Amino acid sequence: MLEFTIDVYDNHQKFPTTRSLREMVKNSGLYSQTGQELVDRLVDALHRKIKMKKRGEKGGFPRFKSFDRIKSLAYPQSGFSLSDKKIKVTPFGEIKIKKHREIHGTIKTLTLKRESTGKWFAILTAEAEVRPVPMKEGEAVGVDLGLMTFATLSNGEGLKKPKHMRIYEEKLASAQRDLSKKKLHGKNRRKVKINVGRICQKVASTRRNWLHKTANDLLSRYSLIAFEDLDVQGIAEEHGKGVSDAGWSIFTDILSYKAESAGIKVVFVNPKNTSKDCSRCGTCVPKELWERQHNCPSCGLSMDRDLNAAINILNRATGGTPGSNACGDVSLETSMKQEAHGFSHG
Ligand SMILES: [Zn+2]
Repeated sequence: MLEFTIDVYDNHQKFPTTRSLREMVKNSGLYSQTGQELVDRLVDALHRKIKMKKRGEKGGFPRFKSFDRIKSLAYPQSGFSLSDKKIKVTPFGEIKIKKHREIHGTIKTLTLKRESTGKWFAILTAEAEVRPVPMKEGEAVGVDLGLMTFATLSNGEGLKKPKHMRIYEEKLASAQRDLSKKKLHGKNRRKVKINVGRICQKVASTRRNWLHKTANDLLSRYSLIAFEDLDVQGIAEEHGKGVSDAGWSIFTDILSYKAESAGIKVVFVNPKNTSKDCSRCGTCVPKELWERQHNCPSCGLSMDRDLNAAINILNRATGGTPGSNACGDVSLETSMKQEAHGFSHG
């Protein structure tokens, strides 16, 4: 098609019609719609070229592609059928497949795509009806994500990484230390490297499973789940968080997408001073990272630092009283005293 296009252009100073190009692919041996899609790609490229020329820009003319540079073939409507272990594609016939996931809805298009590794993928798009999910009613919970305990809930519960997961993580760390000691290009280095890769995969899959299980557990118990928005730069670092992500973002991602289809609300609150503010009276109680306890000099509240933070997170998400912006905020303190005064009179 490209050769024909160049030929017509050289002799008549114009491009061939789309129709004449379509005639050409009819006998290419490709499925008719796949061939037409290739025509569309060439016509699009020519149109881009014309537009650029009109704007006075220099643009490349479409180039011939070797087979290696062809990355995909499209089936916009038909020409394929799918079963559990095979996909039948015109004109290639049945091809064995590894089905990565179930397909919901009506399959609309297929794209055969070749990755740089030489592997071919069949990408299917499907149309499915999305039913609105009614919001679940029930309790709300605040979650403080941490390093010592993976998560502390506002009801006082702590979610700890299981022991076997920590063992794998330690194994990985030691294997990586091993690797860094080995000589470059040494025979042993390769062995150790493969070993590190294996443990890496093991750690990742163990972690993923546990994060999914933990997310499901929270989703089955609560209708609103509140976290700190750790993407707020700088503020997260103030907490000693954001420095090393211990799987938190994977966890909140998993939870967010699962919540959507379960009618559960996931809220991300401003993380400023969640560990400093007193969750009972709102007084700012500055503490160092190593201080594990919250002791409030104003109201006498004494509790685990992370639990105090988790309650603050819940309060911020639900509009509950103290802890909104108490640190260094005098006006709030004043307004609270007035409230207390008015109450005694009433
Ligand atoms: Zn207090």
